Amino acid sequence: MVQKTYDTIIVGAGPAGLTAGIYAARIGLKTLILEGKLPSGRAIEAAVVENFPRFPHGITGAELIQRMTDQAKRFGAELNFPEEVVDINLSGETKIANTKKEAYQARALILSTGAQRKKLLVPGACMHVVRVPLEMARSSSTNGGI
Ligand SMILES: Cc1cc2nc3c(=O)[nH]c(=O)nc-3n(C[C@H](O)[C@H](O)[C@H](O)COP(=O)(O)OP(=O)(O)OC[C@H]3O[C@@H](n4cnc5c(N)ncnc54)[C@H](O)[C@@H]3O)c2cc1C
Repeated sequence: MVQKTYDTIIVGAGPAGLTAGIYAARIGLKTLILEGKLPSGRAIEAAVVENFPRFPHGITGAELIQRMTDQAKRFGAELNFPEEVVDINLSGETKIANTKKEAYQARALILSTGAQRKKLLVPGACMHVVRVPLEMARSSSTNGGI
């Protein structure tokens, strides 16, 4: 049963979701951000973010996320975590997001769930990212690989 109604529901509290939350809440939309883990996304892994305007000497990913979270909350966005969205329904005019705890509905649903690194399915491999030389990638892809 749907219990809670918002103008906008945002799934994911990484940089994209928090930014959407700042904009939505700032124009007065009743905004809910649902985050399955902790507000942060992959930015938390960045020791220093150097390409974000306003920080000429860089800022840690953790501090950047904290500031984004504070800013979204200051405009009135609600942030629920850990609350993973396990099912959505976009078919009707009212969009529905279900978590294990609750069902939410809104006029708009923004999915900002980021991306996950592709894991190598190689026994013993523990690295997630492999840089493949361009020429090797080209020849593998023409041979049906990669
Ligand atoms: C080590 C490292 C250093 C980096 N340095 C920089 C840098 O200097 N400059 C730069 O511009 N970028 C940098 N990046 C990239 C940057 O972190 C990503 O581009 C950015 O985090 C993407 O933001 P996002 O919000 O789209 O996704 P994500 O950060 O992936 O956030 C997605 C969020 O959605 C949540 N989520 C997923 N599914 C669900 C669900 N079903 N229900 C609820 N929540 C869900 C996840 O838990 C996560 O918190 C770096 C990345 C890494 C790993």
